[in-house]
Amino acid sequence: MNLFTILDMACQAFPQRTALTFEGVSYSYAQLHRASLVAARLFGNSQCQAVALQDISSPAIPIALFGAAAAGLTYVPLNYRLSAHELSELRDRIEPAYFIETENRDAFVRACLDGEVPPSPSEIPINPDAVAVKLFTSGTTGKPKAALLRHAHLLSYILGSVEFAGAGEEQAQLVAVPPYHIAGISAFLSSIYAGRRIVLLPNFDPEQWLYLAHSESITNAFVVPTMLVRIVDHLEEHPEFDVPARLASMAYGGGKMPEAVIRRAMTLFPATDFTNAYGLTETSSTICLLDPEDHRSALLSDDAEVRRRLTSVGRPLPGIELQIRDLEGNPLLTGEAGEVYVKGDQVSGEYEEKTVISGDGWFPTRDAGYVDNGGYLFLSGRADDVIVRGGENISPGEVEDVLLKHPAVSDACVVGMQSEDWGEEVAAVVVIKPWLKVSVDQLQMYVQQRLRSSRVPKQILFHEELPYNETGKLLRRVVREAFRK
Ligand code: ATP
Repeated sequence: MNLFTILDMACQAFPQRTALTFEGVSYSYAQLHRASLVAARLFGNSQCQAVALQDISSPAIPIALFGAAAAGLTYVPLNYRLSAHELSELRDRIEPAYFIETENRDAFVRACLDGEVPPSPSEIPINPDAVAVKLFTSGTTGKPKAALLRHAHLLSYILGSVEFAGAGEEQAQLVAVPPYHIAGISAFLSSIYAGRRIVLLPNFDPEQWLYLAHSESITNAFVVPTMLVRIVDHLEEHPEFDVPARLASMAYGGGKMPEAVIRRAMTLFPATDFTNAYGLTETSSTICLLDPEDHRSALLSDDAEVRRRLTSVGRPLPGIELQIRDLEGNPLLTGEAGEVYVKGDQVSGEYEEKTVISGDGWFPTRDAGYVDNGGYLFLSGRADDVIVRGGENISPGEVEDVLLKHPAVSDACVVGMQSEDWGEEVAAVVVIKPWLKVSVDQLQMYVQQRLRSSRVPKQILFHEELPYNETGKLLRRVVREAFRK
């Protein structure tokens, strides 16, 4: 089996069903299948190993993804915001057999839709250990790494968590995440395997998103936290907008969801099931889920521990094991905070440059966190972001959570700043709601009343917004610059 098998099975089961809608034009499963086979033939006559694509979302994405799989080549989606210099460096490194970009995208799609299907499409290389996708990580913690995902990794995730043909004909998935990110890859693979119609929104905008959710009768969506913030803000500022009535399920992930935002979203979308999905590029996407039932109980329960779980990323998927370890790599007990390690068939832990997975399959996520009595995972930031103040470890997330509870604060980022006395001190950049006022002293006092004095930010700066990347990740290294002397 390889990734192409997913489309092959779906096409055999419901050839005439719509697989994809883009700018009002729809493509059936049979058309997508056929176009992918033509693409495979187009790619196949080369000694090169990869097909690269640098573009916003369009039908070229699934055709190239499944076409590369059918040709036994690695699919390499690239960030469309790369500079010309970065792109040329990557192109030299990848040496693609075929390069799809904005300029030749339409011609590529047309050639694949109209081209002649190869005579023997059954000769598809099905080595599950071949590299299916090469993905560059976001680079939030340094230079982007080229993560390698083999067919077996991605298939293990899809087959383990999506029911084949589980979606009814009327189900439509709104895909607004960037196509070069694991969230985009997994949205395509899981929607096709389930038998959903994919509706593409290339450049996220809350009004467009809401418009498509209505006009395309969207039933399922995935958003990163920054998108949900903008959707919720938009609905609150424009009460004339109706909430999409058919939206049965909304999953979110890719970065930390502020508790206040998910609470507002659940109030605004009372008929929608919410799921928090936690995962990494290196783990073929989701490894932990906070499911809709968990969301409901967290809102309704009298038990403080159950209510707190709204800030967790839920429990591991079947087949996934978690371990929390200390700095020396020793396993910790329930409730103790350390680095999150993960093990499972969908976990690759392999980069072009090196392999970061132990012989017995444990992969260090670089995320810091702990697991509670019920097996729920709470993340407190990246292990590298921990602030060490005079030997005491302070997690930025703990201080941010307190700052975010202040009624005047709409966003907050806590980082370490250099200190002669302590090595590092806590510092914060805070965004204040435009119509409210608060002073640095008042905020320091607010934290002082709730946390140990070592956690009180020594310095607080007010900014109009915080730097996030397109997949909703807070760029702490950019915030740290504000405190460099
Ligand atoms: P780099 O490794 O280059 O810094 P990156 O780790 O940001 O890039 P991704 O694989 O896109 O690249 O991000 C995975 C990280 O995103 C996780 O390790 C975690 O920190 C964060 N994350 C993902 N989903 C969630 C979630 N639901 N809640 C909180 N954080 C999340």
